[in-house]
Amino acid sequence: MQLFNVYPVNDITITKAEGSYVWDDKGQQYLDLYGGHAVISIGHTHPHYVKRLTEQLGKVGFYSNSVHIPLQQQLAKLLGQVSGKEDYQLFLCNSGAEANENALKLASFHNGNKKIIAFKKSFHGRTSLAVAATDNPAIVAPVNETDNVIFLPWEDPVALEVAFQTNEICAVIIEGIQGVGGINVASPAFLQKIRSLCDAHNAVYIADSVQCGYGRSGKFFSHDHAGVQADIYTMAKGMGNGFPIGGIIISPKFKASYGMLGTTFGGNHLACAAALAVLEVISQENLIANAEAIGNYLMTELKKLPKIKEVRGRGLMIGIELPAELAHVKKELLFKHKIFTGEAKPNVIRLLPSLALTKEHADQFLTAIKQELAN
Ligand code: PMP
Repeated sequence: MQLFNVYPVNDITITKAEGSYVWDDKGQQYLDLYGGHAVISIGHTHPHYVKRLTEQLGKVGFYSNSVHIPLQQQLAKLLGQVSGKEDYQLFLCNSGAEANENALKLASFHNGNKKIIAFKKSFHGRTSLAVAATDNPAIVAPVNETDNVIFLPWEDPVALEVAFQTNEICAVIIEGIQGVGGINVASPAFLQKIRSLCDAHNAVYIADSVQCGYGRSGKFFSHDHAGVQADIYTMAKGMGNGFPIGGIIISPKFKASYGMLGTTFGGNHLACAAALAVLEVISQENLIANAEAIGNYLMTELKKLPKIKEVRGRGLMIGIELPAELAHVKKELLFKHKIFTGEAKPNVIRLLPSLALTKEHADQFLTAIKQELAN
């Protein structure tokens, strides 16, 4: 059987990983500033993470949600403490798309409305509602097409007000920092506007924090920079540091009922052990403050460099927009300098490293990109 291979893969096989580095099968070391697309939050193969997961695997790896799983309560408690959302509720699932899918369903159960506001260049996942709210026609199959999603321009408060005049809005779904769309940071004023319109119209504010959340922006949720409280936060990626887990954090005003949301693997013992280990390391090693400090350092230094069109982002979610003729720099970084980065459009380099990135790692990258821009 052949793989149904839909991914444009680099011709590299990773066989070892530690901290912010990975190694290929030939022993070549790479600096990882991509983190498997914002997934590696505490660094690869962190000893505490490996220990907690291994120990859990030796006890019980899976038993269904038909019994009590105390690890879920422990996770909810710690997540409440670290995120500052102690009065919210937690529902566990397995991926970012699934988290958004459930958030949108819950919103519609809550107020009975159907219209969803999403934004141009958004990415919310590849399942039916999540993909319908994603601004990328290439991944929306005919069966996913729906009139229920209204795409508004990014940061257009007037268009937002007009859309709300219909009085049919179920939810607004927004990434506090658009990731796939090119690292676009939503302004506090725009997020506050969404909050007040949702309040006035009984609509649900969904903060898609799958990529920009979990401490990456220098605060637990990027929406925290605007001082707004969302009704639902969706999470995945960094939550399990590579173990598949997603979740939604739900305002106390929502009431759960049996059968409303559910999934076989959601909140399984191993996923919870992984997520607990991640939060323990984030707290013990002060990784959110580190993301802010190293992110600020990187952005300040990048802004001094020539030729770069724009540096955007917050914390360790950084976009470097290059002129189109310099789009090849990303490849040079990988093949010449052995540094993995991500991309959004061919000319935007995306940095989504582990939150434990050090100044030395940042300097290694700065030296490499300086050299490429000098050529
Ligand atoms: N939301 C955002 C903002 C994302 O960046 C992604 C993944 N790139 C998703 C949702 C979907 O997550 P998953 O791939 O885990 O389904």
